[in-house]
Amino acid sequence: MLSKILGKNADEWKQDYPLLEQLMATQEVFWVNPLYESGCNRVITPLLGDKDIDDAEQRLARFAPYIAKVFPETKGSNGVIESPLIEISSMKQQIENLYHQEMSGRLYLKCDSHLPISGSIKARGGIYEILKVAEDIAIKQKMLTQCDDYSILDSEQFRNLFSQYTIIVGSTGNLGLSIGIMSAALGFNVIVHMSADAKQWKKDMLRAKGVTVIEHQSDYGKAVDAGRQQAQQDPNSHFVDDENSQDLFLGYAVAAKRLKKQLDELQILVDEDHPLFVYLPCGVGGGPGGVTFGLKTVYKDSVHCFFAEPTHSPAMLMGLMTGLHNKVSVQDFTIDNVTDADGLAVGRPSGFVGKTLEKDISGVVTVQDKQLYRWLGMLADSEKICLEPSALAGFAGVIKLFTESGGKKYLEQSHLLSQMKNATHIVWATGGSMVPKEMMDCFYHKSEEISRKGKNG
Ligand SMILES: *Cc1c(COP(=O)(O)O)cnc(C)c1O
Repeated sequence: MLSKILGKNADEWKQDYPLLEQLMATQEVFWVNPLYESGCNRVITPLLGDKDIDDAEQRLARFAPYIAKVFPETKGSNGVIESPLIEISSMKQQIENLYHQEMSGRLYLKCDSHLPISGSIKARGGIYEILKVAEDIAIKQKMLTQCDDYSILDSEQFRNLFSQYTIIVGSTGNLGLSIGIMSAALGFNVIVHMSADAKQWKKDMLRAKGVTVIEHQSDYGKAVDAGRQQAQQDPNSHFVDDENSQDLFLGYAVAAKRLKKQLDELQILVDEDHPLFVYLPCGVGGGPGGVTFGLKTVYKDSVHCFFAEPTHSPAMLMGLMTGLHNKVSVQDFTIDNVTDADGLAVGRPSGFVGKTLEKDISGVVTVQDKQLYRWLGMLADSEKICLEPSALAGFAGVIKLFTESGGKKYLEQSHLLSQMKNATHIVWATGGSMVPKEMMDCFYHKSEEISRKGKNG
């Protein structure tokens, strides 16, 4: 027990970061980021900016005719992969009753759970990166120019071209699903390294599409390492690096520009007097990080982004709090990274995301699995929307903002108390529409069980 963790013993760590006591005991926490900085025109990173997000958005627009042709469920949106933004007043009421706490402002759900093609937030970053790889190859081979109608990519000629390349990725499930489905449609060989958390139905679905699925008995970090190593031995391969990829990040960031259009259409103001709060489930950090980067680029100080992680996998929180980012893992602090929220079961955070956004993330909350189930049932009953457990984590953010002293402190420090009646809260629902019915029934029963127990004390 006296062994050192990254050069200090546990007591020294807890002295420096008192919150570690609760974190290591896997209790729920609300952490406000002390490095959070406002300042209207601060540059988030010199590496990436507005024009890079525009570039990604334009690339997705070039591919829209192809997407509409190959994935008929996107015909209605002309090949744009986007999700609805829905006001959830009944759910809000239920939460207010359950927690005996009024929540000022309006509550919305961003339904990335219902994104076409792969039913999770990974249909943004994951698919975007594969499209970019395909475009680069086709243009280099002089088989495509940016002015062409990209629906020509749906042909034997292009599938033959892409079949000379292999896409490799490590995943807890949903990234593998996105990468696998998109890559297979284009004609790439695909190898997905799945962590032990990955659900059987995701592996089955991929295999049915001709994807090679390699199952690991270890967690996400090891699955990613295995993929990375395999890719290094094959010059005709592309490794989708969930921990470091700027392309994935930009694919996610496009969501912010689209969200702005949706808010504008609903005539929802976002400015100094009308703050926007966004609550994002976080695994390795790419998805929530990319969305945060986009939102901060669009709305600057008027948007406040909180990440949510399972109490057993507080990887991003650990990295941000210690400033050690990807040099620290939850396992270093004897936290087991075992959670039913499979999409968030990540022990070591992305160093790229943590470093890039260390002044832009407002805070991180952690949540117990049983709360995720409880909200899963509440949302299904009140709004008829079914999510997978990971996708409910964002609710912890909005609830704790109002119920925890850290939340109140954040609002006070940011001089937001008097504007809260004008606030818009968006819980980012990151996955669920592709979960098989029997599995969803299982989740729902678990939820009923938990709320029964809760009522009996
Ligand atoms: C992957 C995933 C997340 C988090 O995304 P990261 O990029 O890993 O942080 C959240 N929810 C679901 C359902 C996911 O699959």
